[in-house]
Amino acid sequence: MANQEDLLKKVVAHAKEYGFVFPSSEIYDGLGAVYDYGQYGSELKNNIKSFWWKAMVQMHENIVGIDASIFMHPTTWKASGHVDAFNDPLVDNKDSKKRYRADVLVEDHIAKLEGKLNKEVEKARKRFGDSFDEAQFRDTNGRVLQYQQKINDINDRLKAAMDNGQLADLKQLIEDLEIVCPISGSKNWTDVRQFNLMFSTELGSVADGANTIYLRPETAQGIFVNFLNVQKTGRMKIPFGIAQIGKAFRNEIIARQFIFRMREFEQMEMQFFVKPGDEMEWYEYWKEKRMNWHNALGLGEDNYRFYDHLNLAHYANAACDIQFNFPMGFKELEGIHSRTDFDLKAHEKYSGKKLQFFDPQENQSYVPYVVETSIGLDRTFLAVMSAAYQQETLEDGSERVVLKIPAALAPVKVAVLPLVKKDGLPEKAREILDDLKFDYNCQYDEKDAIGRRYRRQDAIGTPYCVTIDHESLQDNTVTLRDRDSTKQERLHIQDLKKRIETLVSVNTLLTKL
Ligand code: ATP
Repeated sequence: MANQEDLLKKVVAHAKEYGFVFPSSEIYDGLGAVYDYGQYGSELKNNIKSFWWKAMVQMHENIVGIDASIFMHPTTWKASGHVDAFNDPLVDNKDSKKRYRADVLVEDHIAKLEGKLNKEVEKARKRFGDSFDEAQFRDTNGRVLQYQQKINDINDRLKAAMDNGQLADLKQLIEDLEIVCPISGSKNWTDVRQFNLMFSTELGSVADGANTIYLRPETAQGIFVNFLNVQKTGRMKIPFGIAQIGKAFRNEIIARQFIFRMREFEQMEMQFFVKPGDEMEWYEYWKEKRMNWHNALGLGEDNYRFYDHLNLAHYANAACDIQFNFPMGFKELEGIHSRTDFDLKAHEKYSGKKLQFFDPQENQSYVPYVVETSIGLDRTFLAVMSAAYQQETLEDGSERVVLKIPAALAPVKVAVLPLVKKDGLPEKAREILDDLKFDYNCQYDEKDAIGRRYRRQDAIGTPYCVTIDHESLQDNTVTLRDRDSTKQERLHIQDLKKRIETLVSVNTLLTKL
């Protein structure tokens, strides 16, 4: 665990030092949980977006994309339930003056118990070796059963308190579990209060009678309110999807862990409209599709897992997360939710407009059901960065920090490097660069020894370096160095573009889906 926390620190420091992510308005000491993407970070982000957009929109005939505004009519958020229920229960420790999410304190306590339970299982696995039957052990071992019973009881109480908005019960639970503040170590808690996560602002001048409006806390509602516009103008037939990438804003109570939990972040969401009754089939379909998308990145299949929601939101009939093994442990990266007809029905009610589809096969109109996939762009960025970051000792004994970013996502695809800064090599290198730059983000670098230049490219994750040497002038060949293996191949300049295309194109990922 210590190593993993170390990894997060290293990733944060590396991201800053190499122009990926900066704290927002840093010259004024930054702003809590708000970050800026630098010269390489914005490229990486754009490449992730492009892979998602192509995978969802371009590769599916029945999915189209939109770009809705961040500001929406305030009634939108009444209908969606965000005005009344987009709350987190918060609690302060009176000694440390630190603020926590009350439900998260309880969940962390449950996680500790789960850790103890799993330790028992691991101990037994070691003791019994090959003959170990994990399922049987979990069903029969007294200590494991005790832990499981405790976990179930706490979960039940947490769910009941959260579902019914019983803040006093939540406080009681924290007291009964004797949860202490990690900073002060004390149990001196305030009462639990509700806190709405939406940011509000005013539209129009105050003199005109300004209206309170919200910065959208999710992009999904921009899709729901445009359901009919898109369906009619695109002549879409059920089942079909609408995709969108855009900013969302949440006034998170505790915003720690770098870009994992931000107050301004970006979501990539797709709402898939289906015939009522078909939703479970599509839910399973999208679970598989989305997991394939993640696996195509090659960050390691073991780093992902499904986590089924035990406490379903009242409008959902199935929901799960795809969790990623972040440096802080397995945490939500993407949500896949079967949301029934809750949102469209709510908008029908509040707008007075019919939001239905006439199904020619059924010869009737209905409000479609929705299966949504909702992934955080910034969390995907963090997943890529933390899996890519590696410190290595090379064969010659030298050390390097390398970002093994999937080539198709890398900010800079190719670095073009003349071996020396004379003898016509820079000119030859520039010729190659001028040809490649139409297709790829490239860099030219002639400063310092070639080894140092390779290190610089490794540190920003450039998958390929093209080196021009004296031989290049004679026979028009160059070397192509692979970032991960550090192996070099010699090839003719006229074959270079094609070769690079096969290595770095986003199609290498899309064909895996
Ligand atoms: P969490 O439980 O971690 O707060 P959530 O369940 O509220 O997340 P959703 O509302 O399902 O998240 O949002 C969909 C996706 O948006 C999440 O899977 C996550 O990747 C991303 N996301 C949500 N909140 C944030 C945030 N504050 N910062 C960065 N990404 C976020």
